[in-house]
Amino acid sequence: MNRFEYIRPATVADAIAALNEPAARALAGGTNLVDLMKYDVAQPSRLVDINRLPLKSIEITSSGALRIGALVTNTDLAWHRDVRDKWPILSSAILAGASPQLRNAATAGGNLMQRTRCYYFYDPSTACNKRQPGSGCSAIGGVNRIHAILGASDSCIAVHPSDMCVAMAALDASVEVEGPEGKRSIPISGFHRLPGGEPERDNTLRVGELITSIIIPEPDFGPCHTYLKIRDRLSYAFALISVAAALRVEEGIIQDVRIALGGVAHKPWRDFDAERSLKGERVGIQSFKHVADFILRDAKGQGDNDFKVELARRAIVRALEQAAAGTPQDQADKSLH
Ligand SMILES: Cc1cc2nc3c(=O)[nH]c(=O)nc-3n(C[C@H](O)[C@H](O)[C@H](O)COP(=O)(O)OP(=O)(O)OC[C@H]3O[C@@H](n4cnc5c(N)ncnc54)[C@H](O)[C@@H]3O)c2cc1C
Ligand code: SF4
Repeated sequence: MNRFEYIRPATVADAIAALNEPAARALAGGTNLVDLMKYDVAQPSRLVDINRLPLKSIEITSSGALRIGALVTNTDLAWHRDVRDKWPILSSAILAGASPQLRNAATAGGNLMQRTRCYYFYDPSTACNKRQPGSGCSAIGGVNRIHAILGASDSCIAVHPSDMCVAMAALDASVEVEGPEGKRSIPISGFHRLPGGEPERDNTLRVGELITSIIIPEPDFGPCHTYLKIRDRLSYAFALISVAAALRVEEGIIQDVRIALGGVAHKPWRDFDAERSLKGERVGIQSFKHVADFILRDAKGQGDNDFKVELARRAIVRALEQAAAGTPQDQADKSLH
């Protein structure tokens, strides 16, 4: 581990000032960053411990939206009464992730910023464009069972591993940030980025910017939602494929739909054209199969992960069936059904 400066500011302004150099990093729960430092993958020049900042509250705004402070833990968010009642898809996605101990420490801001779980990214003895730009991508032609089937580039085929962010994508969240140039709000669809030729940049946060909160508008799909996570083990494993699905149905006709996928790309994947194609259609397996094919029209396996294309197709259909039936999967129930 390299030498680094450690500071613990008490105000957002002081934190932003301290973060205003490229190699400075915020430290929240530490469940990802400290691991990466131990593996010598992250080498921050300065650790800005943000745990004293007043960013730990969950509030309902005057417009009925949910405001989540960046330091709210995954546990507090998932079990919050309002979140369970009004944003259950978010609660479900968070509880599908990690373990209770990790969720007690991990924060909302840290979850948004967590880095890929590509095996080569974690192994500094291998080539990896995300860890060391220009060195190559060991996963292309290598072991790539967990990698992307959508949105990958010749530089990187890694996926974003978060569950929480997939639900947030379906819920049209926006990320509130504050930096040297003031405050701005980034729609979640524009927060994470595809790798393109710059896979080292996971998101659109600028140097010195701090995530302060996440805003989620009030949803209007009632009980018709689900978060389906397909993984190698029933708990404590990242998603091979996950689907956050929500529908608004009137007299058997789909009025509105949201479908976000995890485990398929560098970012939670939402296809607005595919969603539009489902509006006005009758609820049923034929419409669901059609939209699954639409979403996956450009999907491409990398060899070991070819199975993910068919797995994603089936997961989308199953999630939409669960959502339409108003039978979301309970994350406390680990049985397969
Ligand atoms: C064994 C294991 C299993 C896991 N399984 C899952 C899973 O199934 N699903 C899932 O979604 N996640 C899973 N996780 C990941 C876990 O959810 C993340 O590690 C966690 O959410 C990161 O949050 P943190 O607060 O600990 O972040 P930290 O480790 O403190 O920080 C992570 C990154 O975020 C940055 N950061 C943190 N807060 C801010 C902020 N406010 N503004 C700007 N930058 C910030 C840091 O600088 C750092 O780069 C797993 C982790 C482990 C170790
Ligand atoms: S997929 Fe991305 S993170 Fe993995 S080795 Fe290739 S460049 Fe690195």
